[in-house]
Amino acid sequence: MKKRHNFLWVITAMVLVAFAFSKEFLPATHPDNTLSNTLAGTSAADATNLHFINVGQGDAELIVCGENAVLIDGGKASAGSTVVDYLSRQGIAELDAVIATHPHEDHIGGLINVLDAFQVDAFYMSDEAMDTDIYENLLDAIDDEGIQPQFPDIGDVIPIGDSGAKLTVLAPGPDSADTYSKNDPNTWSLVCRLDANGCSALFTGDTTAAVEKTMLRTEPHLLNCDVLKVAHHGSRTASSKDFIQAVSPSYAVISYAQGNSYGLPNNEVFEYLKPLGTKIYETAKDGTVVLQLKNGQVSVAS
Ligand SMILES: [Zn+2]
Repeated sequence: MKKRHNFLWVITAMVLVAFAFSKEFLPATHPDNTLSNTLAGTSAADATNLHFINVGQGDAELIVCGENAVLIDGGKASAGSTVVDYLSRQGIAELDAVIATHPHEDHIGGLINVLDAFQVDAFYMSDEAMDTDIYENLLDAIDDEGIQPQFPDIGDVIPIGDSGAKLTVLAPGPDSADTYSKNDPNTWSLVCRLDANGCSALFTGDTTAAVEKTMLRTEPHLLNCDVLKVAHHGSRTASSKDFIQAVSPSYAVISYAQGNSYGLPNNEVFEYLKPLGTKIYETAKDGTVVLQLKNGQVSVAS
């Protein structure tokens, strides 16, 4: 009997030593740590910075969370060097992911330079092809990077590296051209919700009111966010009153060029946002806007 007790003590001591040893020497990036952070809905980095890069008429948003970075869209081809320079100044050499919301030139043009200049680990795009030179050039640039593009579906999660922050795809789902419009690539825009550091942000590409209506019906609980990248440069084809009220952002950013030929942004989006107390930033007037997400609070970083 005594012998058995001694044996149990030895086993217990060995387990305790092994446990203490594993705690001591677990690297910070151990998958278990990442998993627990993900489950807690927080990210390993202290803060996440959202950079709404001033690319003139177009969209380019950089998400930086600790050592990890994701780029959503890259502006026009003529803005490619602007985006590359901006990322370089942020000390970025590698992107965990690049997301092309939809194949219009003012979103994918600059991504060709980005793919040339940086190591890109994953590339996500909407599951609809477009018969344009710039789209073909983008596919070639992705191929040259040695990666396969991925076509996420609604509900898919795109991790921001191992930071614990994540993007969740809210729209448009496969066969978006059949569901919405073959002739309107804006309806193919990937819409992604970011959850990081106790905050949330909604990246909408150039989505339209028809897609917004679907999201309001199918996933209204995911729309309420602290930050909204206003859809389609503030066009009246998006940002319905119901959608803006569902998001109820504390901060909104509209990306466009002053004096653009489309007359963007439309006045209605300001009328819908102002009663909500939303702080509105415009790249045409404010230049590049950087918002910081930290401890459940959003602030302007520059
Ligand atoms: Zn656009």
